This record gives sequence, structure tokens and C-alpha cells, in this order.
Amino acid sequence: MKYLYALIAAALALLGLIFLVGFAGSLVRLVIGVLLLIAAGAVVYLARTKPQPSQTTVVQQIDLSGDVSLENMKCKVCGAPLTKDEIDVKAGAIFINCSHCGSTYQFEEEPKW
Ligand SMILES: [Zn+2]
Repeated sequence: MKYLYALIAAALALLGLIFLVGFAGSLVRLVIGVLLLIAAGAVVYLARTKPQPSQTTVVQQIDLSGDVSLENMKCKVCGAPLTKDEIDVKAGAIFINCSHCGSTYQFEEEPKW
């Protein structure tokens, strides 16, 4: 992708120079040549400012299956109700950071059948 932008910029700049060299008193050719050079510069500018795909932010979502709701979640150590701030998601696993008793553990959803 980077090379494509460089090729486009080089082609535009070359065309612009051809038009400028073949100027021969023609105002239209002069204008076209200058415009092509500006376009080449714009392509280079866009290629530099374009954000890399690797910089996209990864959005993590707490996916609680079944009938487990945030209101029903309680600390398994002290039994205090947990708030959204006390639940953390790391590498797909849910971690509980209880602010009441200070305990930290991985949340495991109990099977219901
Ligand atoms: Zn607790």
C-alpha cells in the first residue's frame, strides 16, 4: 500500500514535469503541470498521515451469557454486590476486584441445569 502511494505520487510528479517542460508558452499546460505536482504532493501527504491498521482500538465487551446479570453478581468471598467498576475483562476472562473485602479472583459462571 505504501509503494502504491509512492508510485502514484511519482507518476503524477513525472506527468507534471512533462507538462512543465513542454510548457512552450501555453498557460493551460503550465496550470496542468503545477496542478499535477500539487496532486503528487497531496498523495505523499495523505500516505504519511494515513493511520496504520494496527492502531485500531480493540473494544472489549463483557459478554455474560444466560440469566447472569450485573445486579445478581455478588462477591463470593464477602457476598457484597458487585458494581460495573469492580468487574474487569482480561483475555476473554472475567475478573472480580471486590472493593469491599479487597479480594481479586477470576469469575466463573456456575452451570445451571
Ligand atoms: Zn468481597
